[in-house]
Amino acid sequence: MSKPKTKLAILIVAALIMPTIPVITASAGNWYGATGNVTCGGNMQDNNDMTYHRTSGLSSELFSAYTYALTNAVLSTDIDLQPEQSSPDDNTDVVMQEANYTGTWCGHTWHGGSGTVIVGYASCESLSGSKCQSFNIFTDQSWEVNQTTTSRRNHACHELGHTLGLIHPGSDEDQDSSCLYNTSELDYSDRDKEHINDNY
Ligand SMILES: [Zn+2]
Repeated sequence: MSKPKTKLAILIVAALIMPTIPVITASAGNWYGATGNVTCGGNMQDNNDMTYHRTSGLSSELFSAYTYALTNAVLSTDIDLQPEQSSPDDNTDVVMQEANYTGTWCGHTWHGGSGTVIVGYASCESLSGSKCQSFNIFTDQSWEVNQTTTSRRNHACHELGHTLGLIHPGSDEDQDSSCLYNTSELDYSDRDKEHINDNY
C-alpha cells in the first residue's frame, strides 16, 4: 500500500470520531474513483444499479436508518436502487452487517478499544476490473445501540457514500452539507452528487 492510501485511511477514522476537526485530503478531493483497492482503502462500486442486502444481525433501528439513507440520499443521485435481495450473492453491491467487533480492522481499533477508534467500515470484498464488485459495510453494535435516529441515518448515508466512491471532503469541498463529514447531515453535498452522477 502506498503512503497516500495509508494517510487517507487514518483521516477516515479521524473524521468518524471527531467530525468537526478539519480534514485535509489528498489532491484527488472527495472522490476515490476506481482504485483497485480491496478490504483496506476506498473504491467505487462497479455499476449504477445498486443491489443490496441487510443481514439479520442488524438492529431494527439500523435497518430503518438504511431505509432512510437509501431512499433519501442514494436516490437523490443517479444511482438506480434495486429492490432488496432476500439473500446476497457474489454480485450484490452492498451487504450491510452489524456485530460487536473487537481488535483491529485495517490497522485501526474498533469501538470499545483504546485510542482513536472506528465505528464502521465500508470494505470492498471483490473486484470487477479496478472497481468494486461487492462491498460489505460493517457497523459496530456497541456503538450503534447508543446512537440517535439522526446519527444512525448519518452513519448509513456516510458508509453508503464510501461504496459509491466518496472520500471525506476537504475544507474546500462542501463539508457542512455532506454526510461524509457532518454528523448531523443526512444527504450528500452537491459536489458529492456531481462525482457520483459523473461516474455512474
Ligand atoms: Zn468515512
